[in-house]
Amino acid sequence: MGKQSFDASKEHALQLDQQDELASFRDEFYIKEDSIYLIGNSLGLLSKRAEKSLENLKESWKEYGIGGWTEGENPWFYMSEKLGEMSAPLVGAKPEEVIATGSTTVDLHQLVATFYKPEGKKTKILADELTFPSDIFALQSQLKLKGYEPAEHLVQVKSPDGRIVEEDDIIDAMTDEIALIMLPSVMYRSGQVLDMKRLTEEAHKRGITIGFDLCHSIGALPHALSEWGADFAFWCNYKYVNAGPGSVAGIYVHEKHLGEAPGLAGWFSSDKNKQFDMDHQLTPATTAGAFQIGTPHMLSLAPLKGSLEIFEEAGIDRLRKKSLRLTQYMMDLVEHELKDYGFEIGNPREDHRRGGHVYLEHPEAARICTALKANKVIPDFRNPNGIRLTPAALYNTFEDVWNAIHILKRIMDEEQYKQYENKRGVVA
Ligand SMILES: *Cc1c(COP(=O)(O)O)cnc(C)c1O
Repeated sequence: MGKQSFDASKEHALQLDQQDELASFRDEFYIKEDSIYLIGNSLGLLSKRAEKSLENLKESWKEYGIGGWTEGENPWFYMSEKLGEMSAPLVGAKPEEVIATGSTTVDLHQLVATFYKPEGKKTKILADELTFPSDIFALQSQLKLKGYEPAEHLVQVKSPDGRIVEEDDIIDAMTDEIALIMLPSVMYRSGQVLDMKRLTEEAHKRGITIGFDLCHSIGALPHALSEWGADFAFWCNYKYVNAGPGSVAGIYVHEKHLGEAPGLAGWFSSDKNKQFDMDHQLTPATTAGAFQIGTPHMLSLAPLKGSLEIFEEAGIDRLRKKSLRLTQYMMDLVEHELKDYGFEIGNPREDHRRGGHVYLEHPEAARICTALKANKVIPDFRNPNGIRLTPAALYNTFEDVWNAIHILKRIMDEEQYKQYENKRGVVA
């Protein structure tokens, strides 16, 4: 789409929606028609199918009581494995390499406890300075548990501009002191996509184990973890995957590591046929199931089934294509309509480096977000000056994007944001 030929009319937005082969998926979701939900990267909306699979879980509990573990259509005892299998296409893995379990941060603890094996000179962990705080806290505490001082043993690659981290700088930091690398697939603020294939190759050339946090890419873009040879990955399922607040997360471990004992063991790490032997000698599962700890949180797991069925139908490649068109359209509209209002587009522009959201920077971002919410456009604010706008490919429309940007323009023209204080809420 050349700049000269950009059509900024509302009719064009409606036309794009008419041509959208994924448009019907919007009907699968509970959408508030009087508002524009652009925060699917923080908490995805409820779908009718996720509601149904949650409902089915409730019914199986009513019907079978404890028998639900092994009886009924979806025996609970095997659900984590089944949902791992269903998640595998989203991360480009083999079914046995994926398990639905735990929560994001707990899963990171598990993976670092398993794969961080300091030895000789190789004692450090490599991350980046823009990473989500929870991940950093987990890495720091894992270092302390092994008796290392985080200030010295956690190496964080610098960002040149507070938005992105250069792959070249990460590779330069892969010294012979690094034992483990943990990086995000997509930066949670700027939406930068890291080249996971290249980073994995470079890490392995140097004999370093590497894993990724997929929180901002799972359900938004395709991965080929298994083919790339990535050692491990983990993610939440409540953002683009729409499985509900605090839903059970996911772990991937490359098949070459399957059979290794988990760093944090529990009885659900067991080979399923041995688990009820009640032996004090753990026989770990030979699948990614070994990285489970205790009894699965069935109520938080159940909605994932319905959510993943939707992804099976829509296909992650088609969703990524639509997502790129939506975010491109949003950036084009921002440039067309909001030129002189002090906004800067803080996400990378190129398709292969741009995740699922647009990141607008503005000195008044906090109160502009408050004004957007007062106008029923739901963005999220990220300290200190960022507005994340996520048109989710499963349920947002080009018309949503057009309306949101025009509402934003009105807020700026009328200086509506000046009614509010320029500070964030408790959860923002
Ligand atoms: C959302 C997110 C998390 C959240 O972790 P929880 O344990 O689910 O609270 C962690 N890391 C990243 C990069 C995230 O975006």
